[in-house]
Amino acid sequence: MFNWKSIYSYLDNGTPAPPRKVERSEEEWKEILTPAQFRVMRMKGTERPHTGGLCSFYEAGRYACVGCDTELFDSNLKFDSGTGWPSFSEPVADNVIQYELDTTYGRRIEVLCNVCEAHLGHVFPDGPEPSGVRFCINSESLKFVE
Ligand SMILES: [Zn+2]
Repeated sequence: MFNWKSIYSYLDNGTPAPPRKVERSEEEWKEILTPAQFRVMRMKGTERPHTGGLCSFYEAGRYACVGCDTELFDSNLKFDSGTGWPSFSEPVADNVIQYELDTTYGRRIEVLCNVCEAHLGHVFPDGPEPSGVRFCINSESLKFVE
């Protein structure tokens, strides 16, 4: 069962290998991504809360990485955390997410796409049951797939 312990285990040992890897140069990413997407995904920026287009969006479908089209989250596990960022309690598969310790502002766990290593957001241990996990993800990093 996926829970907070799973994340610590993946932080220490790495997540299972992704289905593929996508690598591009900084110049190539700048051509593909909008400036706002580039700032979040390649420079680890954070969009301002309540500004992202997917924050209050609850259609049925999946959310894929803007950088590589890998499906990361499902609308079934999206919830309103009140934080102003799209929030999910589990990824669609354990091998699509990479975790890194981020000590920029205290001690947080950064969430990255395991395929193209784009910054997605952070993960916290205060989500709803059964996982108890909250993925706090920037709208700029995600695109909705019906
Ligand atoms: Zn990606």
